[in-house]
Amino acid sequence: MLRVSEHTERTDTGRQRRANEDAYFARSPLFAVADGMGGAQAGEVASGAAIEVLSAGLADGPESAEERLAALVADANARVHELSIADRDLAGMGTTVTVVYVGEDDVAIAHVGDSRAYLLRDDTFERLTNDHSLVEEFVRQGKLTPEEADEHPQRSIITRALGPEPEVEVDRVSLRGRPGDVYLICSDGLTSMVGEALLAEILSSAPTLDNAARSLIDAANDAGGRDNITVVLFRLEEVGSVSVDEQQTVAGVAAPTAAEVRAAVEAAELQGPPPPRQMAPPAKPPRRLHPHVPRRSPDRPKRRKRRFIAPLVIVLIILAPIVGGGILADQAVYFLGTTPDGSVAVFQGVPYKLPFGVNLYSTEYVSGLTPAQLPDSRRHDLLSHQLRSNDDITDLVRQLELGQVAAR
Ligand code: MG
Repeated sequence: MLRVSEHTERTDTGRQRRANEDAYFARSPLFAVADGMGGAQAGEVASGAAIEVLSAGLADGPESAEERLAALVADANARVHELSIADRDLAGMGTTVTVVYVGEDDVAIAHVGDSRAYLLRDDTFERLTNDHSLVEEFVRQGKLTPEEADEHPQRSIITRALGPEPEVEVDRVSLRGRPGDVYLICSDGLTSMVGEALLAEILSSAPTLDNAARSLIDAANDAGGRDNITVVLFRLEEVGSVSVDEQQTVAGVAAPTAAEVRAAVEAAELQGPPPPRQMAPPAKPPRRLHPHVPRRSPDRPKRRKRRFIAPLVIVLIILAPIVGGGILADQAVYFLGTTPDGSVAVFQGVPYKLPFGVNLYSTEYVSGLTPAQLPDSRRHDLLSHQLRSNDDITDLVRQLELGQVAAR
């Protein structure tokens, strides 16, 4: 019989986000990671609500653990969806979820989105989940190689999530556990920053799971830490008199390898229904696959700065006494722009800098998007620093993150 001998979990905001919208659950025998999305705090609400539902554990029943786990994820979807339609501020929010349940002999996995589960067994490190992401769909269709997908500017767009629809298709799979197996569940803040070869190296060389978790998060941050990073790790051991290997011999059935499991998942997906239409972004014309990103000339930001500063110096001289009050009034407006390192971000205030380094804006929220991920035809407009209300900009960023802002 299997048991979890040790587990460790760690989450980190990363280097560029201001808030952590990831959530996790780790109480043997159930382990999960959720990565929320949506403007303002909606992503945090979505991932938190999903984890809260999962924390109830598997319901009793005659169904397999895998079926009951998938039903639990469906419940989490219903809950996130319910919250999103009950509160305008939460409309359109969503979350990924990857959940692993350790049964007596088998390990069941249920999954939606692009958070991943991996298995380190002896010297083999294998991914157990397929991302529900635009680029992975293209890889499956042979339109992109896995290497191109890793570097693709639209790699953070997901095609399936909990929340946006009342029902969701849940991927699920079970595999025979073995003592010594180490499972890693993580958000894309880890896998978009750290390649699988390095993940495997860190995991297999760390002296303890806790040490491995710290090193994984450090590696993601060292690579830029563009997103929230969450890592859940656990190791299996065997308890009781009959070993898993003996049971296999008696049953005469070899445990599937992780590669076989993935192949089965892929085959099941090929036969399964397509993902919900509204969540999947419309098929992109070929040019969207290799977007031409105009290079910004190095002097462009400076030109923009000069253009803004000149009138403002005059304004400052004439209206110095009321600038303080003006700054306060400015706090109610927002605009979309980019941070110095190239992330699309929401700024509160107005897009001006006063002399002596006084900004009339502050960073409110840094998305995981880069300008190259915005629709080509809308990029200029979207980043033109148009002033918007809190509601408008929240909706806009949520749609951008969901890939729902269409080109025109
Ligand atoms: Mg993420």
